[in-house]
Amino acid sequence: MKNILLGMALLAGVSTFAQTKNQSTTNHKNFEVVKSDAEWQKILSPEAYTVLRKKGTEHAFTGQYYDNHEKGTYYCAACGNELFSSENKFESGTGWPSFYKPIEEKKIVKETDAAYGMTRTEVVCSRCGGHLGHVFDDGPEPTGLRYCINSVSLNFKKK
Ligand code: FE
Repeated sequence: MKNILLGMALLAGVSTFAQTKNQSTTNHKNFEVVKSDAEWQKILSPEAYTVLRKKGTEHAFTGQYYDNHEKGTYYCAACGNELFSSENKFESGTGWPSFYKPIEEKKIVKETDAAYGMTRTEVVCSRCGGHLGHVFDDGPEPTGLRYCINSVSLNFKKK
């Protein structure tokens, strides 16, 4: 009997470990800024919360920045991380602010997104894990990439 109990305890230990390991694979990056859902809801507008924390998408041609041509910097609306420059913004015609590269590669993290029956590459803020948008390979030179970003995930500061 003692042995059976010991065996069960060991199995329980193994399965707990496996679960922890799975979770860390899914959420492999330990973000510098970590807040609970309730905390994010307090500091973000309902629209920003839906996009940044729930991976929502704003409607095309409705955001603040798709048609913004001012020179300056775009910061993460959730944590203030410096993400994109007006110098790398281009006219994609999609109705979302589009960039061919971030300010620095380390400012963002790319994740595979298999939602809605498509495989896309999601772009998240490297500091808080907030959802920014997606990256596609039909952008202009020199990178050939199109970072399709929600306006509501960004805060623009004019130069
Ligand atoms: Fe952020």
